[in-house]
Amino acid sequence: MQTQPTASHFINGQYVEDTAGTPIEVIYPATGEVIATLHAATPAIVNQAIAAAKAAQSAWAAMSGTERGRILRRAADIMRERNHDLSILETYDTGKPYQETSVADATSGADALEYFGGLAATLTGEHIQLGEDWVYTRREALGVCVGIGAWNYPTQIACWKGAPALACGNAMVFKPSETTPLSALKVAEILHEAGLPAGLYNVVQGMGEVGAALVTDPRVDKVSLTGSVPTGRKVYAAAAAEMKHVTMELGGKSPLIIFDDANLENAVSGAIMANFYSSGQVCSNGTRVFVHKNIKEAFLKRLSERLDNAVIGDPMDPATNFGPMTSRRQLDIALGYIAKGEAEGARLAYGGKAIEGPGFYMQPCVFADVTDDMVIAREEIFGPVMAVLDFEDEDDVLARANDTEFGLAAGVFTNDLSRAHRVVAGFEAGTCYINSYNDAPVEAPFGGMKNSGVGRENSKAAIEHYSQLKSVFVRMGDMEAPF
Ligand code: NDP
Repeated sequence: MQTQPTASHFINGQYVEDTAGTPIEVIYPATGEVIATLHAATPAIVNQAIAAAKAAQSAWAAMSGTERGRILRRAADIMRERNHDLSILETYDTGKPYQETSVADATSGADALEYFGGLAATLTGEHIQLGEDWVYTRREALGVCVGIGAWNYPTQIACWKGAPALACGNAMVFKPSETTPLSALKVAEILHEAGLPAGLYNVVQGMGEVGAALVTDPRVDKVSLTGSVPTGRKVYAAAAAEMKHVTMELGGKSPLIIFDDANLENAVSGAIMANFYSSGQVCSNGTRVFVHKNIKEAFLKRLSERLDNAVIGDPMDPATNFGPMTSRRQLDIALGYIAKGEAEGARLAYGGKAIEGPGFYMQPCVFADVTDDMVIAREEIFGPVMAVLDFEDEDDVLARANDTEFGLAAGVFTNDLSRAHRVVAGFEAGTCYINSYNDAPVEAPFGGMKNSGVGRENSKAAIEHYSQLKSVFVRMGDMEAPF
């Protein structure tokens, strides 16, 4: 497959290059080889992208929702037709196994395009009668939206931000993570092939400073970031200077509570999905697994048996279900935390070693006997490192689960219906699971409480974050005034 794109950026409906920008080497995580070289956006490129978005946006907003939606739905169809090639590219970009990318990346991007394409025609204001007078509201686009992505789900993030933005009549300038710059260019290509007018979905490459240049540009009306909490703080503060709208999808250290009445096999499956899918590089992962003391050893034993079935290897092999880390840096971060966990006295119950050879591979890792104050129980690792903590009492474990700055996700496994709903009601987290983990269908709101974020992606809730209401008062009779 050709992994070197036509050019680094996609602006105003075409590929654009500016070799004056800092080179960005794209590395295939399975081998460590350079598979493409791109260039970060120069100030001229950033300006060109925002100018193109600004120029195209009002005509797009003036089209009917049905017309806008038709283009998004066509793009969804094209993405599905090309799922195989897009999945291979996503695997090159991220190292995630084809077994995952072929069902989770372009497919979920297509879901977002289809869902928001369908919703576009239904977006309306409302009529509010006030005696003989009335108010009506117009739901209007925000203008130019900037999307900034993380490296774990580059295709999905490009669509989760682009689809609702475009459905509401906005233009988008998207900056992927410098680690995974390839997939978003394909999303832009497909949108334009589906009939999206030039200038409405632009992709510019670069590191943090390109993101910062986009966020601070006065022509930009909204910023949607998927990234870490420290970056979120910077971007939110920069956007606040000009009262820009924001959506912040940030990190987490989510709890997963397993009661002793849970179906053990399902609970082990849940813990695996909550920690090892995408080699643990998932924001909503339930990395603090609280297991009731009565079943702890049985849980650890069964978990180890199941982890022995992980197929670690060539991510292009459809049998592989555990790929490399996306970058050397992320591998080193995960291994660094494992060393910290051992130094802090946690019991290494499974794996956790780097795997020799090319590529950024490591074994899935499980720590048992973890306590709440350990660094591995407090900080987001963003790797395949599960911390198992013991508990006995429901109120106590809920308080411990909530004792964190984060609030992205939380899960509970139990066969007690009342307890399940009671515990979920007590969770301080935006996305919760009962006897499941890490589902993220486009129909449901996704996002965090506390430091994990602001706003929601997906579902009808996203519409509120990509549009604004204008109230129009209409008087039927004469106008009165005091003098
Ligand atoms: P980072 O916060 O490091 O980066 C996120 C994006 O922001 C990147 O494109 C980055 O550019 C850019 N960026 C960095 N600094 C600035 C700045 N000052 N102004 C504007 N943009 C900037 O996160 P990672 O890419 O390492 O992704 C991992 C993090 O993302 C984890 O914390 C994870 O939990 C979170 N995440 C959250 C999700 C959610 O939906 N809640 C989903 C997926 C991940 P570059 O890296 O190219 O320099």
